[in-house]
Amino acid sequence: MCHRSLIAMTVVLGAGAAYGAEFDLIIDNLDSGFNSRIECTRGVPILMYHGLDGPHGHDPEDFRTQMRWLADNGYQCLSLDDLKDWIKTGEPEPPSKSVILTFDDVYITVYSVAYPMFQTLRDEGRTFFGYNYAHSLYVGVPPGGPPPTSFDHADYPECAEMEADGLMFTESHTVTHSNLTALSFEQEWNEISQSKSDIEQGMGKTVRHFSYPFGEYNAETVELLELAGYETAVSTIEGLNTRDTPLLELRRYNVTPSMALGSSFTRIFDAVPGTEWGVSVGAPGWFGENYALAVAGNGCSTAEWTFTVPTDGTYEVSAWWAAHPNRASNAPFKVSHSGGTTTLPMNQRSNGSQWNALGTWSFPAETTWSVSLSNLADGFVIADAIRIRQVSSPTDIWVIR
Ligand SMILES: [Zn+2]
Repeated sequence: MCHRSLIAMTVVLGAGAAYGAEFDLIIDNLDSGFNSRIECTRGVPILMYHGLDGPHGHDPEDFRTQMRWLADNGYQCLSLDDLKDWIKTGEPEPPSKSVILTFDDVYITVYSVAYPMFQTLRDEGRTFFGYNYAHSLYVGVPPGGPPPTSFDHADYPECAEMEADGLMFTESHTVTHSNLTALSFEQEWNEISQSKSDIEQGMGKTVRHFSYPFGEYNAETVELLELAGYETAVSTIEGLNTRDTPLLELRRYNVTPSMALGSSFTRIFDAVPGTEWGVSVGAPGWFGENYALAVAGNGCSTAEWTFTVPTDGTYEVSAWWAAHPNRASNAPFKVSHSGGTTTLPMNQRSNGSQWNALGTWSFPAETTWSVSLSNLADGFVIADAIRIRQVSSPTDIWVIR
């Protein structure tokens, strides 16, 4: 139950039964409705790569440098099956330095760059392997060949060779690489089921894992995947995979070509588990007595404000912070409301010392709602105060003047 540090409620009952209500709730970082914590005591990052040949993705040398960095820092690859078993049963617990490597779009570089690198690491006694998500219409299609493409793609014999070697497993990325949420039910089912049987026929294996093209999916997509017999699916939502992560909505970090071995790559790993929150008065303009802050990381450090509202109605949610140039330009405030959850990247380098509206949503009474903030951002994230302000209530609608 949250402590209401400031509540202004006025009820005006005038002649003719006019009724108005105003509700203002502020929760500061020292109030009991606030908590900050480290979310991921154990979480597994999944990395997403595409091509590894420079023009269509990573510089191959950057990729090899990243793999070398992971190996030298004690990381080893985990299988999707081990991840699945751990999420479902808690056993076996993954090694603390686990990573899952995925490659979308069946580019030839899974065979010409990633595969030889995994062979090299295996020769050194390292456990490194990856997942090759193929859109089946494109398997083996050379540059210029149908369907129109300017890229070269691995073929089934190459995929089978890597699979037999235990270093690269080919799974489904649909047939044509379409946005599944924009298709008819029949088209969507065909993309999901046909690609599975295409690859199974081409390679003589059972396909059980899936990657959403463009990361796009909805509740229907997830149901169709279950129906088709898929056991896991990777999204493009960033974050670590914990035992709470849905198997058909696994989190995945997009490793972009510009990352090389910069901090944007290593930060995925350097904060497992998350770094502690601190309190500070370093930059002026905070609300109350101070503010909580966390360094940029992989999203494992989270802060949360929880609240209830007195009546069903529409409320504006705002946040207050002490601004500074070292802050995140994309502090991810996440608001739970009657329509679901909305994430808003806020720029904490400016607009400090004022109420910044995150949005207006409907909140039924008698449920506990929350605003949360994680450190999956590009600078310090500041958790200071939030304000919930009523903008209308059903009462207003029923008034007869
Ligand atoms: Zn793709």
